[in-house]
Amino acid sequence: MRKNIVAGNWKMNNDLSETQALITDLKSQTKTTNAEIMIAPAFTNLYSAFDSLRETSIEVVAQNMHFATNGAYTGEVSAKMLQSVGIETVILGHSERRAYFGETDEILAQKVDAALAANLRVIFCFGEELADRKSGNEEAVVASQIKNALFHLDASAFKNIVLAYEPVWAIGTGETASPEQAQDMHKFIRKTLNDTYGNDVAENMSILYGGSVKPNNAQEIFSKPDVDGGLIGGAALNANDFFAIVNAF
Ligand code: PEP
Repeated sequence: MRKNIVAGNWKMNNDLSETQALITDLKSQTKTTNAEIMIAPAFTNLYSAFDSLRETSIEVVAQNMHFATNGAYTGEVSAKMLQSVGIETVILGHSERRAYFGETDEILAQKVDAALAANLRVIFCFGEELADRKSGNEEAVVASQIKNALFHLDASAFKNIVLAYEPVWAIGTGETASPEQAQDMHKFIRKTLNDTYGNDVAENMSILYGGSVKPNNAQEIFSKPDVDGGLIGGAALNANDFFAIVNAF
């Protein structure tokens, strides 16, 4: 049975005291839900967030990591470093990492391998740009992003992977894929998994949608059969909005 997941990507927002304030707000609203809840604060605030959220149902996850285990990679953070502060899950391949930091499918394949080798769970992000959708190439682009970064793995590795379809044109723009566009793409992604890895991997894979999910559209998007949750940017920075989205399940 695949899980429903709502993950908040805080990006480069919130210093230490702002992180603690938002966590206090989140804790005051946590109740039993049908979804796993995650938040991804900045590296500098991971331990503080992890420590504050021990014994709650909110998991603290990282936004990125390097593929090397250690060494001369100034400014980078390894899987082992994340684990040493309690992190069990890392987001990889966010479109902002691809666009602003040159992360290619090849680099992401190495990061995925390093994360899985360290027993971290991976939330793997991908999605087409507006030009791809306008030219009808969105499925080809998405298939190649997934295949290039993940299809060297054995089927057993997929139990530690969550997929996040995030059309670039919908991230931070206020423009959301329609629930039908999200469903069509998620169904295509599941079929792509099925074609190579079979029904078990495809049916057990949680596929999240990301791109301007807000309290007023979450329920309709999450009601689609192949949408198993959301990766939330802007709306994750407000506890009321974030929990309104979590409670859309
Ligand atoms: C994201 O950054 O993953 C995201 C989906 O952002 P937003 O919700 O702000 O579009």
